Amino acid sequence: MELLPIFLNIRNRKCVIVGGGAVAYRKAVLLNRAHANLYIVAPSLCEQLEELCTASNATVIREAFSSAQLDAAALVIAATDDSVTNLAVSTAAGSRNIPANVVDQPRLCSFIMPAIVDRSPVLVAISSSGTAPVLARKLKEMIEVVMPGDVDKLANLLASYRQLLKDKIRDQDQRLKFWEDLLESEIPELIYTDNEAVARELIDRRIQEHLRFAPSTGGKGEVYLVGAGPGDPDLLTLRALRLMYKADVVLYDHLVSAEIMQKLRPDADGIYIGKEQANPGVGQEGINAMLVRLAQEGKKVLRLKGGDPFIFGRGGEELETLAQFGIPFQVVPGVTAASGCAAYAGIPLTHRDHAQSVRFLTGHLKEGELKLQWDLLVAEQQTLVFYMGLTGLTTICEQLIAHGMVADTPIAVIQQGTTKSQKVITAQLSTMPALAKKEAIRAPTIIIIGTVVALRGKLSWLNN
Ligand code: SAH
Repeated sequence: MELLPIFLNIRNRKCVIVGGGAVAYRKAVLLNRAHANLYIVAPSLCEQLEELCTASNATVIREAFSSAQLDAAALVIAATDDSVTNLAVSTAAGSRNIPANVVDQPRLCSFIMPAIVDRSPVLVAISSSGTAPVLARKLKEMIEVVMPGDVDKLANLLASYRQLLKDKIRDQDQRLKFWEDLLESEIPELIYTDNEAVARELIDRRIQEHLRFAPSTGGKGEVYLVGAGPGDPDLLTLRALRLMYKADVVLYDHLVSAEIMQKLRPDADGIYIGKEQANPGVGQEGINAMLVRLAQEGKKVLRLKGGDPFIFGRGGEELETLAQFGIPFQVVPGVTAASGCAAYAGIPLTHRDHAQSVRFLTGHLKEGELKLQWDLLVAEQQTLVFYMGLTGLTTICEQLIAHGMVADTPIAVIQQGTTKSQKVITAQLSTMPALAKKEAIRAPTIIIIGTVVALRGKLSWLNN
């Protein structure tokens, strides 16, 4: 982080603006909105600035800049088009430790002004650390669009309950949960549609109910079984994102990418349960037990899984345990590795001319063996997708050929598909084992077998 974002209280503090033109005026408007005690230093002022100074009772010093004008100032903004003056302001402020902003000269600034969305008391400040102001403005527009227009009203309403709730609900965690539940309820929508009286009634009722049935330990825990997709965070669903932000605690494994982990609520507890083949981690029963225990403690537990939770994800087993203990849960599907990797590698899994069906299989070896009904897999016009197939790659290729699949059938191996490190190799059934070894392919990999793989040359221009 290049700069520390802070919100400064300048109410009734001396704030100096050097300059009398349109830019100085815009800065003066902003400082005035934050109730600063304005000092304008400029030999002459534009009309708008004159009016603002009169209306806001500003002190106007109709002189050239001199450093003594900065005495006891909380901050200074230089908004002149004279580079000598701008430099003088920056230097004088620096030697007095007064925060200084020089418009359009980032190197002379000790602070910069962010783009803002102002729905006071709610303020969103956006900065590109001075690198791309236009991008910051674009982001501001995007936030303006998604932020409810009356979020200020909502903030004021919540503020009016803050002290009361502090007094009534002393436990900090319970209070936090109360606020979160309230924001998830219909109450914000009532405020946005001008139904404040009804909203207040509902809040009062919630407080009464909370006091009557204060949750002692837990009671309201739940589990979200969420598919995180194969790696690229852009493939998360909106629902996954929402729940990721809601969860108190997150159980994740090695298939969930670091970029996706960054999207979690920063204060959520993360519990890593490695499930790599060589390192079975906590074990499935351990995970089931942990989900139950955390939910019984009243926590919102996110079980984040690579891909889709119901495709080779053992999601079903976890849910059975939750159901057995009467713990509420939701399941959120994710983009499974087969479709994510295929799309990013430019391989359509079905195609009118090549494959009318696709089979998802596990290539995971049990005691060094892969027991599959090979003869059923050798069919025309069918695509095979093997999950967990890297260790068994040679067996897969040999068995398919032994059961009648032509040896030059196209095959693709996709390593870390959809991520920035995605690697795709293609070959024929007979040549792939040697190629994968030569290319030092590592897990996680998806193996796609069938003539659709040959379409890759035509279709992979965008993602690779
Ligand atoms: N539930 C997951 C699959 C879990 S099994 C899903 O729906 O995708 C784990 C296997 O998924 C890995 O061994 C590998 O075969 C595959 N896999 C998961 N993510 C992958 C990725 N980004 N690239 C390639 N294969 C991946």
